Amino acid sequence: MATGSISLAKAMWHGFRGKCPNCGRGHLFGRFLKVADACDRCGEELFHQRADDFPAYLVMVVVGHLVVPAILAVETAYAPPVWLQLAVWLPVTLFASLALLQPTKGAIVGLQWQMGMHGFEASKSRREAGQLAPVLVKASRAA
Ligand SMILES: [Zn+2]
Repeated sequence: MATGSISLAKAMWHGFRGKCPNCGRGHLFGRFLKVADACDRCGEELFHQRADDFPAYLVMVVVGHLVVPAILAVETAYAPPVWLQLAVWLPVTLFASLALLQPTKGAIVGLQWQMGMHGFEASKSRREAGQLAPVLVKASRAA
């Protein structure tokens, strides 16, 4: 597959879907939140990502801004017992956070990749020069 210029939105969408930001077909994640060293389809190096805690902060902000107003609205309208509020909103918060964490991290890795942040700088200049990604090099993790 030719490595043309991939837009930021497309790279982040690929990452959001858990796919390689470069080809959109290979797997971005080895495990739940463990980013693969390289794409299993196109060989694009992915271990340069430095998403760190940022996806978790984003998820907390988004889920918090959805769940807290919902709790307040239900409390104002129906004033249900506290145990009922907890029984509903704790699992909602937990599952919403778990569901959003991997797509959010994928989108952030896509953003870092497309913008050439951190170690992705070399692959960005390689893309801009129209050269192909190195074929499945088992990168030793230097971190
Ligand atoms: Zn790929």
